[in-house]
Amino acid sequence: MGTRRKKHVILTCEYCKNKFEVIPSLKNKRRCCSKICMGKYNSVHKIGKANPNYSGGTTEQKIGYILINTGPNKREYEHRIVMAKHLGRDLTKAEVIHHIDGNKKNNCVTNLMLFKNQSTHTKYHSDLRLLE
Ligand SMILES: [Zn+2]
Ligand SMILES: [Zn+2]
Repeated sequence: MGTRRKKHVILTCEYCKNKFEVIPSLKNKRRCCSKICMGKYNSVHKIGKANPNYSGGTTEQKIGYILINTGPNKREYEHRIVMAKHLGRDLTKAEVIHHIDGNKKNNCVTNLMLFKNQSTHTKYHSDLRLLE
């Protein structure tokens, strides 16, 4: 058994339905054979920033939060600024702030809880629901 080449996985392009090869680590990341197909596929399926379930951005319920102008064309959530000051460092994009009393406008540091990412935050919410 000579393993000269890395094994490739054959996938079917979700846009043009052509077969294409990828390295196994990209198996779940690639949907299309080319950037052109990917762009067309994304515009059809609205993947990315337009999708409210997109986890890379800060699209989490904008309504109800206090936004502060921090510079020209720059707005930040007050609760994130408060937490960053409290920690003495900037928050990462993934980090999520939870309002303990549920009041999104109560940005007192004692009302804020920091989560590493949205999934630990979501898990915390489902744990809370189990306690009710
Ligand atoms: Zn394609
Ligand atoms: Zn929360």
